[in-house]
Amino acid sequence: MTSTPATLSRRSFLATAATLTGCSLPGLSRGNWIDAHVHVWTPDVQKYPLARGYAVSDMRPPSFTPEQLFAHCKPEGVNRIVLIQMSYYQQDNRYMLDVMRTHPGVFSGVAIVDQHAEGLADTMRNLVKQGVRGFRINAGKEKNLSEWIGSAGMATLWRTAADLKVSVCPLINPDTLPLIDKMCEWYPDTSVVIDHFARLGMAGAPKADEVKNLLRLARHAKTHVKASAFYALGAKKAPYLDMGPLIRQVRDVFGPQRVMWASDCPFQVDPGHNYHNSIALIRDRLDFLSEQDKAWMLRGTADKVFFSSASV
Ligand SMILES: [Zn+2]
Repeated sequence: MTSTPATLSRRSFLATAATLTGCSLPGLSRGNWIDAHVHVWTPDVQKYPLARGYAVSDMRPPSFTPEQLFAHCKPEGVNRIVLIQMSYYQQDNRYMLDVMRTHPGVFSGVAIVDQHAEGLADTMRNLVKQGVRGFRINAGKEKNLSEWIGSAGMATLWRTAADLKVSVCPLINPDTLPLIDKMCEWYPDTSVVIDHFARLGMAGAPKADEVKNLLRLARHAKTHVKASAFYALGAKKAPYLDMGPLIRQVRDVFGPQRVMWASDCPFQVDPGHNYHNSIALIRDRLDFLSEQDKAWMLRGTADKVFFSSASV
């Protein structure tokens, strides 16, 4: 619904008044947004070699540094970013950690660890000391998903994440949602952030039971969803309004305090797409989102999950 002066709620009236007078209400001031999912990499493969199996020709674009990111995100009022360790480097998180160190207060990080390695809990603790607030798990190349999710290493990862008060961040397709639901049942104290709506709608329209499986995760208090990667989902065409119904369902069922917007740069700025159209979908184009919803989805949720202190 569009707000007209006659239908303005007290809350949106106050937000509008704050904008007009230039004073800020906590949580409702516009700008100062957080992008909860960006990858960076450098063409300097001497200093930061690619993992086995990756070649320089795989790096597309050839470079995506913080400076290249800032050129896209700062004009849109985004000044904090959650970095997601790039697959090219696998478990060598050094480039991401160096970027975080070079720009204090700007970045949080989600690292990749080898869940089968000795000393996994110590490795995770050490990364958290350096500002990491999440650990990415990727179902991508796993052949047996239940074996993967039920492995001893995964148990340590989920338990340690809970101990450290950081998140597990699954990159999965909808078929893995029931397994994640099981893990959330076994590890109710572990915070979980699902990437890109579990990629619902990446390969054609999402099926009703897949949507149901995503929404079912809301029964676990510590689950969150990233409303992100619009370039890759649904019609895959700006202004991405076809994503509206899914965003609305996720907002309704999880509540805005458990939903966070993210661009998934640099892929969101591939030809045919741009940064503005990603943030604008949440910020400007969906009438059912209140100012309070946007404050959570564009800042508050990611702030709480990725920029709060951990327990090390
Ligand atoms: Zn990504």
